[in-house]
Amino acid sequence: TANRETLGFQAEVKQLLQLMIHSLYSNREIFLRELVSNASDACDKLRFEGLHNAALFENESDLQIRIGYDKTARTLTIADNGIGMNRDEVINNLGTIAKSGTREFFSKLSGDQQKDANLIGQFGVGFYSAFIVADKVVVTTRRAGEKADQGVRWESDGGGEFSIEMVDMAARGTEITLHLREGQDDLLDGHRLRGIIRKYSNHVVQPIVMFKEEWKDGKQEITAEEETVNQASALWTRSKNEITDEQYKEFYKHVGHDFEDPLAWSHARVEGRQEYTQLLYVPAHAPFDLWDRNARHGIKLYVRRVFIMDDAEQLMPIYLRFVRGVVDSADLPLNVSREILQESKDIEAIRKGCTGKVLGLLSDMAENDKEKYAQFWEAFGKVLKEGVGEDFANKDKIAGLLRFASTHADTPEETVSLKDYIGRMKEGQEKIYYVTAETFNAAKNSPHLEVFRKKGIEVLLLSDRVDEWALSYLTEFDGKPLASVAKGGLDLGKLEDEAEKQAQEKEADEFKPLTDKIKASLDGRVKEVRVTHRLTDSPACLVADEHDMSGNLARLLKAAGQ
Ligand code: ADP
Ligand code: MG
Repeated sequence: TANRETLGFQAEVKQLLQLMIHSLYSNREIFLRELVSNASDACDKLRFEGLHNAALFENESDLQIRIGYDKTARTLTIADNGIGMNRDEVINNLGTIAKSGTREFFSKLSGDQQKDANLIGQFGVGFYSAFIVADKVVVTTRRAGEKADQGVRWESDGGGEFSIEMVDMAARGTEITLHLREGQDDLLDGHRLRGIIRKYSNHVVQPIVMFKEEWKDGKQEITAEEETVNQASALWTRSKNEITDEQYKEFYKHVGHDFEDPLAWSHARVEGRQEYTQLLYVPAHAPFDLWDRNARHGIKLYVRRVFIMDDAEQLMPIYLRFVRGVVDSADLPLNVSREILQESKDIEAIRKGCTGKVLGLLSDMAENDKEKYAQFWEAFGKVLKEGVGEDFANKDKIAGLLRFASTHADTPEETVSLKDYIGRMKEGQEKIYYVTAETFNAAKNSPHLEVFRKKGIEVLLLSDRVDEWALSYLTEFDGKPLASVAKGGLDLGKLEDEAEKQAQEKEADEFKPLTDKIKASLDGRVKEVRVTHRLTDSPACLVADEHDMSGNLARLLKAAGQ
């Protein structure tokens, strides 16, 4: 037709399509989960926008997802009566990848099919996964509230381009038709489709509807009667002992957009000043946008089972941005907006409760399942460290969750807790010692450590960018001050005997002419030159004054242009 236009996919989309078709083939069923999840999101969005603008419902407020198949045409159809899309939205959403971490994702691809499949899973496969099973995909959609002639038809064979044209569409929402590739006919089967839906999308909140089927003369026929295929219940509203681990995991994959099982979860109904239910998950691996502090947060907010918003960042502190799940409040007003959330004392109480739950869950894991905790620390340790500086009220709890490398094992693995360290402190040792450097090797070989190694005193070896910053907020743990070994006139307190101290004072006098001479020849570049006993192998080292910033922090700030 006259208004039909052909446009090219963004280069990354082309690349992703190729990869997806080849790498995810053995997992091909997930395309249905992705399309159902988009349909469900679209219904949630309409429900939310509809709170402020009831006209969007166009007198049809029963939101649902419909799935059908046509054996003769060899097509599958996934339709929803959610928010729909206008022309610009279609071009943006189905022609580009607007995700943070995209560049990093592509740079990590190795060409190894298994590894790449995992990476794609973590990146999130989304709409384009339709092309795993289809060689032609047609999307017709109309945004809620627009006129019937504002429908949009999008079509592509998953090559380099797609076509787009305006069409009439009476009903709002989105319908996606998949023209199956050769060899995909097993999907044209009601029993098989129901199985996939129940496996991956059982707890999607909206009903997923299919036509009933009947056996007639030894043949299966599709009737005109509809039935709901999934449970369509809000899992979190059921009581814990009615929910199996499998159901918890399945629900996580839906809310967390994840391929893999979660590491742990916490499900509780909280009563008191605020009444709410929370179901919070800790994922097993980091998402691609973990380092984007503006990325989605992954907590969905409901009020009395009505979806309010995704990404409710007020419900979780930034340093717990990896947590996924649902909070369902019994008290908040339905028309709550992001602006109201920001100010709300009620939300503050919920956030406090959720934070406590997650930290409790992690402490429990650290205590009872060291292997799991190590996996958690590997994925999210760096993020959790931010909490020491950001969450004053929970500082001690977070400090207890930190893990470090140390001279005890002398390996880069971060396994030592502050509690472990204190348990190994020497007779007479009062402080927790640490050294910071740009790399683990630099920390491990720091000349500042020599005297500690000689005396057998453990030192934490810190080489993360955030370590120095985080530890500046952590001055003590369990009554023991933390001290950098790179600072000042190192006072080893009771670890030094009297004889050593006297010998040092004597030597300082004896060598004064030499130290003065060195200082003069360095000509203002150092504050002071001292005789030291902290070195056993190296002839000299640089130290910072007690109250000055350390050499490492100074380097970091310089690198950051300060
Ligand atoms: P994601 O769901 O993670 O955003 P997808 O690739 O699955 O990524 O979908 C891309 C975008 O396309 C969605 O964010 C949404 O805006 C739009 N979209 C996809 N399916 C639908 C649908 N059924 N109704 C409305 N919008 C949709
Ligand atoms: Mg999606």
